[in-house]
Amino acid sequence: MHKKLIVGNLKMNPLTPTEFGRYLDGLEKDMKGKRFEKTEIVVCPPAVYFRQFVERKMKDVKLGAQDVYWEYQGAFTGEISAGMMKANGAQYSIVGHSERRKYFGENEEIINLKLKAILKSGLNAILCIGESGEERKSNQTAPVLKKQLEKSLAGIGVGKSEYITIAYEPIWAVGTDKIPSSDEVLEAKIIIKKILTELYSRKAVEKMRILYGGSVKSHCAGQVCVDPAMDGALIGRESLTPYDFIKIAKIIDEK
Ligand code: PEP
Repeated sequence: MHKKLIVGNLKMNPLTPTEFGRYLDGLEKDMKGKRFEKTEIVVCPPAVYFRQFVERKMKDVKLGAQDVYWEYQGAFTGEISAGMMKANGAQYSIVGHSERRKYFGENEEIINLKLKAILKSGLNAILCIGESGEERKSNQTAPVLKKQLEKSLAGIGVGKSEYITIAYEPIWAVGTDKIPSSDEVLEAKIIIKKILTELYSRKAVEKMRILYGGSVKSHCAGQVCVDPAMDGALIGRESLTPYDFIKIAKIIDEK
């Protein structure tokens, strides 16, 4: 059995290296004496803080990127390649986050290119998918998830599937404090597994983790992660406070 995965997406936070140093102090303090037997913990800070993270040499927290560019190298001002993220300590990268789709116009074709670059570089991918509130209301959740998965995973063979984690993040739940019921998460998980099985195989899908993301807090981690037996969580705001982040990780690890 694979380990569960808890991912903290710090987004464009914190503001300074000093604040990030304090964040790392907090993580070390809140992890002290705790064992995570069944869970991998990953933190995705802005890439400018990678060196600071790596220098801490934290044993139980891995480093992840929030995004990559799909080209390998060259004249692409402002971008960072997957290989560069890996060479600077990352082991994971998020791809296809709803904020990238909304603010930077990323579509499935772009996400597919990025996903291929992530896998080629040797990073593990955390692919975000999820329906909008409108799509849910009009019963479009299943076709939307199908389209997102099929297009994002196009041309990616079964041999790479175990390096891909799917984060089910209903867009209406990200950053909103609205959360789905356990049944709604479970239903989405079943849909995702079915689509993945059609694309790959039942055996391959057993090795792929499916996370829940969207307004996860300690008081609702049971409802959205534990009850539907998700393989972990992708956490935004609550990962900015080490105490809360580790508290959620513990709740999920112990189930
Ligand atoms: C996210 O941005 O992926 C996320 C889940 O954010 P939040 O936990 O703040 O809803």
